[in-house]
Amino acid sequence: MNQLEADVIVIAGGAAGLSATIAAAQAGAKVIVFEKGSTTGGTGNMGMGPLGIGSRLQRVKQMGPTKDEAFKIFMDYTHWRVDAQLVRAYIDKAATTIDWLEKLGVEFVEPATYFPGGNFTWHLVKPSVGQPGPMAAGAMMKTLTDKVKEMGVKILLQTPAKKILKDRDRIVGVIAEDRSGELIQANAKAVVIATGGFGNNLEMIKKQTGYDWGKDLASFRIPGVDGDGIRMAWEVGAASTEMSMELIYMMPGEFDPALGETFRQPHLMVNLLGERFINEEIMPNTTFTGNAIARQKNRTAFLIFDEAIKKRMETAGFDQVSVVFPFTKVDNFDALLQDHLDKGFKEVFIAGSLEELAAKTGIDPEGLKRTAEQYNGFCEKGHDDIFNKRYDLLRPIRTPKFYAGRFLPGAYGSLGGIKINQRTEVMSKDWKKIPGLYAAGTDACSIYGDSYVFILPGNTMGFAINSGRIAGENAAAYMRSLGG
Ligand SMILES: Cc1cc2nc3c(=O)[nH]c(=O)nc-3n(C[C@H](O)[C@H](O)[C@H](O)COP(=O)(O)OP(=O)(O)OC[C@H]3O[C@@H](n4cnc5c(N)ncnc54)[C@H](O)[C@@H]3O)c2cc1C
Repeated sequence: MNQLEADVIVIAGGAAGLSATIAAAQAGAKVIVFEKGSTTGGTGNMGMGPLGIGSRLQRVKQMGPTKDEAFKIFMDYTHWRVDAQLVRAYIDKAATTIDWLEKLGVEFVEPATYFPGGNFTWHLVKPSVGQPGPMAAGAMMKTLTDKVKEMGVKILLQTPAKKILKDRDRIVGVIAEDRSGELIQANAKAVVIATGGFGNNLEMIKKQTGYDWGKDLASFRIPGVDGDGIRMAWEVGAASTEMSMELIYMMPGEFDPALGETFRQPHLMVNLLGERFINEEIMPNTTFTGNAIARQKNRTAFLIFDEAIKKRMETAGFDQVSVVFPFTKVDNFDALLQDHLDKGFKEVFIAGSLEELAAKTGIDPEGLKRTAEQYNGFCEKGHDDIFNKRYDLLRPIRTPKFYAGRFLPGAYGSLGGIKINQRTEVMSKDWKKIPGLYAAGTDACSIYGDSYVFILPGNTMGFAINSGRIAGENAAAYMRSLGG
């Protein structure tokens, strides 16, 4: 078996792992990174940016919230069902992290929010070309990876960690497997776990969260995030936490983004009974919408509009413009949709009548008829008597053709698994720290209670980077305390 020596081993080179690595190396530790994938960045490559609180960019624009305000928002939102000390440590760290990232060479544009009423905490990464958008944060992952290499840290790609080594109560290293199948024993004083959760492990999703992927969940599956770190931590005695999915809502399958936006506009949303269950005006809050869909029969919902609304989306444009896909209208709806249908896309339904739409979608026909009549009545009088949806968004559903898109709860990934304290030290089942073991990012992200705190956007990547920094600093301090 090949042997390696380090002060700190970081398991994985994703958002949390890279941050932990830099923080530990900046504090003087000799670090080795084991990364399962053929590139670094993990899920961090997919997003647009992390949360920041009181960053230089926010201060320049006089944007809140302050640290205290953010903490209060967080704890009110989660009803204090989460580790308040960990939340506080995260928020306090977030107050310096965007500036820290800027010093490392990461560039951001002006902070944004995700939906009306959210806070401007989302620090969108400026990509190397063009405007921020999906995968812009890949530029940040590249900058951090370059920095790690520049600091002389070894990143071993395609070398997954397999087992954490423990000698009596203390963590002493890791067994990893290189790309040729050779095992490596890496000895170290501290280990940081940051393997990104279990969003790609369908069995674990089913067991830990109850969702049946493909049936009542359509979440992102990022290759490699299979729950390895959580399993390894549990094997050495770590306590588990509540586990859930970082809920949003999604149409199963690949969909053209401009066309996709037509089905994310606040038209009429119904469940399989044909009943409304949401004030559609809140749909930009994708977590609330996902939560609401998850409560419906078969966790299924349909977004419905008619030909008149379709034409309006092609001419006047969209009611709501998203930060992720900022299309203001759709130009060629019929052609785009036909292209998808020709390719076998099954989640959009077209019909000449509401009865036919009900037959095609499986929505209860009587329920749909009743709801359409009631909703059209609300549109005529300009008031939604049930949910008080904004009157300017009330448009009747009565001009054939009728269109429906099928939605399930979606998710960016999983949440939680390894119990940590505010120093990101991994805790055992009897609430004692396991000396030398740290966890960060999604593997340890159990700070949202029952619902992702999207009101402070950039939250999961923010938690990954900040908990990673905290873990790296504490792992290095622990290494020094052992005389390293
Ligand atoms: C489409 C999309 C958009 C998103 N946008 C945003 C956004 O704009 N803002 C935001 O806050 N959040 C966003 N997120 C979520 C955010 O990207 C994640 O919360 C964040 O990347 C989690 O960081 P992490 O380090 O815990 O995991 P990851 O970044 O996923 O890193 C985990 C790494 O672990 C590696 N790994 C797994 N097992 C092993 C093993 N045994 N040994 C070694 N390595 C291993 C994986 O290969 C991977 O590289 C988005 C997610 C998705 C899917």
